[in-house]
Amino acid sequence: MQTILEKLNIKSVNFGTSTGLQAWSSGEELLDSFSPVDNQLIAQVTKTTFQDYQQVVEKANDAFKTWGNIPAPRRGEIVRQMGMAFREYKAELGKLVSYEMGKSLQEGLGEVQEIIDICDFAVGLSRQLYGLTMHSERPEHRMYEQYHPLGIVGIISAFNFPVAVWSWNAMIAWVCGDVCIWKPSEKTPLTAIACQHIITSVLKENNIPEGVSNIITGDYQVGEWLSSDTRVPLISATGSTRMGKIVGATVAARMGKSLLELGGNNAIIITENADLNIAIPAVVFGAVGTAGQRCTSTRRLIIHESIYESVKERLIKAYQQLRIGNPLDENNHVGPLIDSKAVEAYNAAVEAVHQEGGKMLVDAEVLLGDGYESGCYVKPCIAEVKPDFRIVKHETFAPILYLMSYSTIEEAIDIQNDVPQGLSSSIFTLNMREAEMFLSVNGSDCGIANVNIGTSGAEIGGAFGGEKETGGGRESGSDAWKAYMRRQTNTINYGKQLPLAQGIKFNL
Ligand code: NAD
Repeated sequence: MQTILEKLNIKSVNFGTSTGLQAWSSGEELLDSFSPVDNQLIAQVTKTTFQDYQQVVEKANDAFKTWGNIPAPRRGEIVRQMGMAFREYKAELGKLVSYEMGKSLQEGLGEVQEIIDICDFAVGLSRQLYGLTMHSERPEHRMYEQYHPLGIVGIISAFNFPVAVWSWNAMIAWVCGDVCIWKPSEKTPLTAIACQHIITSVLKENNIPEGVSNIITGDYQVGEWLSSDTRVPLISATGSTRMGKIVGATVAARMGKSLLELGGNNAIIITENADLNIAIPAVVFGAVGTAGQRCTSTRRLIIHESIYESVKERLIKAYQQLRIGNPLDENNHVGPLIDSKAVEAYNAAVEAVHQEGGKMLVDAEVLLGDGYESGCYVKPCIAEVKPDFRIVKHETFAPILYLMSYSTIEEAIDIQNDVPQGLSSSIFTLNMREAEMFLSVNGSDCGIANVNIGTSGAEIGGAFGGEKETGGGRESGSDAWKAYMRRQTNTINYGKQLPLAQGIKFNL
């Protein structure tokens, strides 16, 4: 771990003691980064002050004047170099992600791989920022549309994907010609600073102003400066629905644009026609991966009544084999929750299941003792519930899986849709009619709907995001880039007359 920080010239970080991390601001106030793996204080990061923030915005604005005028394919070339740099640092950065956030080493490495993949995608995109041409109704006129960069893009990110989600936004924004100001989660500032160092070194090598990539650190207040700032035309915010409602309203009040990626409450339907040999591992991975702290984690399982008992038994058996412990040890399946507040939320949800009349099929437990000193390790658990329980409609960011049964496919789809969130959903079936119904207009109301794969693990090539309280934003692949640009319609008259549209006459 120490090596990546040394290589990146990040000074004074001590794993285990509280020396300060190199300041990014003139402020005195520090932000602690604790690892949930072993509760060590791994770094202290200087918080951005309001004065610093003003300077960052000015620096970003200046940088935009240069960056926005560089041809898009040339910007793509620089993003290609960023992808190469992340390949170089993959092993170390992946480990740091795992240590600071608590996800498994494999998932930490996977997150850096997502950065590399989105860089590749963005490089290709830099030559494909296409607009349409239209046939004008007026003679000797030409009409077309073109896309221009917006300016500054503010990126607010969550702790659970501390680096990947930033890159989905930043790499696309950069090829579009925007500059970025990133406000990472206060729970994972160190990985963000490591990324900023990697990007800065590539910008320097290319003589590009550093203000193309900026980072501001601190809690929600720093995010509020960004979301209320009229100089920042787009805010892309990833996090809880609670946060998204505040940020969305603030940005809308100043007529800015927002791209919201918020909470999910994802379900898998297992029909009587499912191949359980693929359904069961998909459910277990979706429910316990990242200790249930993915926005796409599987939280609800809707099972046909005829196979309910057998699915239940197989899941109970699978959960008995789960190994919980240090995520840097590849033998473990489940790491810690992010902090003690997350443990409290896990306990409160289990309590709510009891109060509403549910039954635990695999008991919840906060693990203590050897290897679990941080107090953040919990046992993934399974609860038998009714679809209308209040707690089932709520996203608890922990490995709790709710089981419920259904009798008709229409009923299963109704249950799946009857929650406030609309991010990811899946059906396991080998029956074409069931699969197509799930994907039809009367089917899943989510932004992501899968057949015979689980709810988590999206690929960067598709547009990622969800409906309803998930916020409606789309980022990453497909044509998500359009959110980072402004569309301009141009009409050119190359004739000697001035015909008006809609045949209107105006005789002078
Ligand atoms: P959070 O809402 O607590 O914080 C997310 C970010 O928002 C942090 O950087 C935080 O400082 C900032 N923030 C909080 N209040 C703010 C405010 N009023 N103004 C401006 N910024 C503010 O979320 P979290 O606990 O870090 O992450 C977990 C949540 O994120 C879950 O709900 C999860 O589903 C969601 N998430 C969604 C996606 C997605 O793509 N849909 C991806 C990852 C995480």
